[in-house]
Amino acid sequence: MICVSTRNPNREVSFRDAIFEGLAPDGGLYVPKDPPHLRDLILSFSPATSFVEIAAQTTFALLEGELTEAQCRTLAQEAFPFSPSLRTLEPAHLLLELFHGPSCAFKDFGASFLAGAMKAFLNQEKRRAIILTATSGDTGSAVAQAFHGKEGIDVVILYPSGRVSPSQELQLTTVGGNVHALEVQGSFDDCQRLVKDAFQDPFLNSHYPLTSANSINLGRLLPQSFYYLWAFAQIKNQVTDDVYFCVPSGNFGNLTAGIMAWTWGLPVEGFIGATNRNDGVPQYLETGTFRAKPSVATPANAMDVGNPSNLERLQHIFDGDVNRMRTLIHGWSQDDASLLSTMAQVYRDKSLFLCPHTAVGVRSAQEFALANTTRGDMILTLGTADPGKFEEVVVQATGKKPPIPARLGEFMTRKKQSTLVQPELGELKRFLERLT
Ligand SMILES: *Cc1c(COP(=O)(O)O)cnc(C)c1O
Repeated sequence: MICVSTRNPNREVSFRDAIFEGLAPDGGLYVPKDPPHLRDLILSFSPATSFVEIAAQTTFALLEGELTEAQCRTLAQEAFPFSPSLRTLEPAHLLLELFHGPSCAFKDFGASFLAGAMKAFLNQEKRRAIILTATSGDTGSAVAQAFHGKEGIDVVILYPSGRVSPSQELQLTTVGGNVHALEVQGSFDDCQRLVKDAFQDPFLNSHYPLTSANSINLGRLLPQSFYYLWAFAQIKNQVTDDVYFCVPSGNFGNLTAGIMAWTWGLPVEGFIGATNRNDGVPQYLETGTFRAKPSVATPANAMDVGNPSNLERLQHIFDGDVNRMRTLIHGWSQDDASLLSTMAQVYRDKSLFLCPHTAVGVRSAQEFALANTTRGDMILTLGTADPGKFEEVVVQATGKKPPIPARLGEFMTRKKQSTLVQPELGELKRFLERLT
């Protein structure tokens, strides 16, 4: 697979280089240059094909020439000891649950695949890497779990002291081994600035094999396409008409992964891009003009993004033509009251807890279906996190406590291990010195 930057179609790099660079040097995001034609492969998957099998075969179809078939298979097997699953909400509305991985959110799929891919490339080259990443809470735990124990890789996670939830902090700081938590006495912005400064520091870059694992990395996006293929294979014999995916969105990575699967040949009629009150993209689809806005806080806080970075990838895929984008992506948004009432309604009617993000999707799919689908169509809404991760919001909406998955509760008994630092590059340098 040849990759190019969204800002310079002439700068071609391998997938390997795209994942170790993260962001392109021109500030653009990496995207596959020409979408591969995988329609036959996609249609060959049946309801009996396992997620690992789909991941292995698709990875090889995409990365042939960079990794061997055996390496792709090992990568898929090691990355995905967990699988998506489907739940029926209504006969024509299914929930694609993506939260059965270690950190109970869909980000496990991307983080785990990226960790495995980096390990495979580093082993081939007998090299090491240090991952630097800043987190405001949630992403860090998926990265920590995914890279834990990966040979040849150290992970340094910077998080703002006192500004992540106690359970998030324990998920970052108790993994240990090759995963190091730096507790920064500052804000999330300070953490991000430190990481950015480190990547631009000539000394650090010549002395340490620094790389990033943040959510814009193509190595995290690519595997998120696999569950769209899996879900389609599961239902293809039941649907008589069109298939739609409804995607609760913040940074729009998940939606972009679905669109990528469509460019490879996945037969999808449309995508619903569902946001909370941070509705810049639905507004863009309606008006044709994008206005970045400061994010506003909502109960679906992993989607509180004012300026979604993946819009640049979407625009690249549609050649900057918002009219073409509109024919495939339907923008939808929900205010706080509507997502909370949806959580309450689904609990009342079906005894099913939803996380606030998933509720944004479920409600948007319900509204979309009323106006836009006919008999025989099917909507799959992506379930992005386990409701137990957002206990307070669930209690607020339903009056009941959701069950907490055992693997989340487990952290609460462990001991925090972190290094307290000031938000200064010098402190990060000293830490890296001691690490190597
Ligand atoms: C990250 C996240 C989202 C938003 O996903 P994007 O790919 O950024 O659009 C939605 N729900 C949950 C639970 C998340 O963690």
